[in-house]
Amino acid sequence: MSAAPMPFRAEVSRLLDIVVHSLYSDKEVFLRELISNASDACDKLRYEALTRPELLDDPADFKIVLSVDKKARSITVADNGIGMTRDELVENLGTIARSGTSAFLEQIADAKKADINQIGQFGVGFYAAFMVAQAVEVKSRKAGASESWEWESDGRGEFTVEESDKTSRGTEVTVYLKQGEDEFLDVERLRAIIAKYSDHIAIPVMLEGEDKPANRASALWMRPKSDITAEQYKEFYHHVAHAFDEAALTMHWRAEGRIEYAGLLFVPSLKPFDLFDPKREHGVKLYVKRVFITDHAQGLVPPWLRFLRGVVDSEDLPLNVSREMLQNNPMLAKIRQGVTKKVLADLGKLAADNAEAYAKVWDNFGAVLKEGLYEDSDYRADLSKLLRCRSTAGEGWVSLADYVSRMKEGQESIFYICGESAEKLRRNPHLEGFKAKGVEVLLLTETVDDFWPGALESFEGKNFKSVTRSGEDLGKITGEDKAENKPAAEGTDDLIALMKLTLGDAVKDVRLSDRLTSSPVCLTADEGDLDIHLERFLKQHNQIRVPSKRILELNPKHALIAQMAERAKQSGAADHLKDVAWLLFDQARLLDGDTLSDPVAFSERLGVVLKKAV
Ligand code: ADP
Ligand code: MG
Repeated sequence: MSAAPMPFRAEVSRLLDIVVHSLYSDKEVFLRELISNASDACDKLRYEALTRPELLDDPADFKIVLSVDKKARSITVADNGIGMTRDELVENLGTIARSGTSAFLEQIADAKKADINQIGQFGVGFYAAFMVAQAVEVKSRKAGASESWEWESDGRGEFTVEESDKTSRGTEVTVYLKQGEDEFLDVERLRAIIAKYSDHIAIPVMLEGEDKPANRASALWMRPKSDITAEQYKEFYHHVAHAFDEAALTMHWRAEGRIEYAGLLFVPSLKPFDLFDPKREHGVKLYVKRVFITDHAQGLVPPWLRFLRGVVDSEDLPLNVSREMLQNNPMLAKIRQGVTKKVLADLGKLAADNAEAYAKVWDNFGAVLKEGLYEDSDYRADLSKLLRCRSTAGEGWVSLADYVSRMKEGQESIFYICGESAEKLRRNPHLEGFKAKGVEVLLLTETVDDFWPGALESFEGKNFKSVTRSGEDLGKITGEDKAENKPAAEGTDDLIALMKLTLGDAVKDVRLSDRLTSSPVCLTADEGDLDIHLERFLKQHNQIRVPSKRILELNPKHALIAQMAERAKQSGAADHLKDVAWLLFDQARLLDGDTLSDPVAFSERLGVVLKKAV
């Protein structure tokens, strides 16, 4: 039976284009990808067979066989794993299931040299064969099915699927080599590639006609650390994480005692593209006694460690545990505790031993770890030590311990300010008084930063306080105080009264400020009110209808305010200063990144005031 050709989905065509033209410098990795898929297919069947043993009909032993046909100039990778139905062939080899792939491909469409390190995450795997192939043929019989199917394509936009004569279970991928790729017909070359990339694969990889596997065929995570080379860890990381970078941190350990498991986990050196996918799924595979169970065991690692990649292999969970049963399994909860503690401890060690390497991890995953600070009280204390922030003390990352060690006499709180970017925050008027006194302020710029200071409450006994909040803090701190201390001008009280009267309900209060040195005004939140930045965030997400009123602080040292105070004593001042009062209020809003409540009124007032000034 022959079938009409089907087109690849658009993103596959684009991907193939990239693969064929620029992607890998090492073409040999196509073999690693095919063997990796064959191994995954065996893992999947082994899991299915736990509940449906009849699926493992004839050969119950899993293996992957590589054969070469010099006449046809082809190599074949055959496995006796789970196999694919017709629909699965179309779906798995004709589309890219992963979310975000299209968007990513669009983004790199112009880039001449696509970044392999990034594209690896998208499961380019199978398509890598087209680097060396003029055509690829995939014959497959799904375990338990009575028919088999054959997929074929030259990688140029279309593929066909028709019925096949394959009688055994599993999948055979045949790669018909392009001119000039004959090196892959050499068995010794293949042996070397397997040794290099596939030694850690737990299923035996056989060269046809030989009876000894060409790889070690034992689970890498069960081998003693001393037997494993850095290169082998790296290859395993690439296999398990579908990654192509060097892991930033490799953690390999065995827990023994009340619960027994082995863990081999990696912190990537690149941010996975779906790190902020709302599903927040992690990338740690669960095995039970060497049998693969699932990629997404809910509860195996907390969502705020979802950047981890690797394997956890339990000795205690029952082999017939269903994926559904895992959800609230107390044993799994214990494993999660152990894994979480180990990872936090190792991150702490990295931070202590190699601040630069840790800074890179924080650059990539700090925002995710901070979610834990907010939502997981069990690990808050550990996470607060790992926390790094930007601050007014300099350009680099600052730890809370650093901050506390630099606190001034009389300073009781850890001060922070939230906003869009560190650059903008550095110029925020709220910081003026703190700068003048040499008091450090943390500059927080991520969404989660609006939340964790409230959740964490304190560090080494010091509470967290936003500088946009009113309070007497600065007065109590004996700093170097670079600002000159002129007494407030006479008439300041009149000015305050006048401004309160003018602004009325638009503000909660008008006060003199001790936090301003060069700006005339700023808005602050009253003690019990929401932080200004947090409130804006909640408003954007429709969590708040009625905004809180703010306190307008005046800088008595500022020439404009002093002049206004002078004028405020005289008669008819209210009329004269009304427009200026409103303009100052609007200016303060703008400086906080807010919008004008009434742009028309604003420009009218500005017109009046400018006219007087000219
Ligand atoms: P990935 O392995 O990252 O999922 P690939 O491009 O390597 O992406 O493979 C795509 C999909 O094709 C796999 O997820 C799998 O469902 C299917 N597949 C590929 N090779 C095999 C195989 N030998 N046996 C069964 N399924 C396979
Ligand atoms: Mg693959």
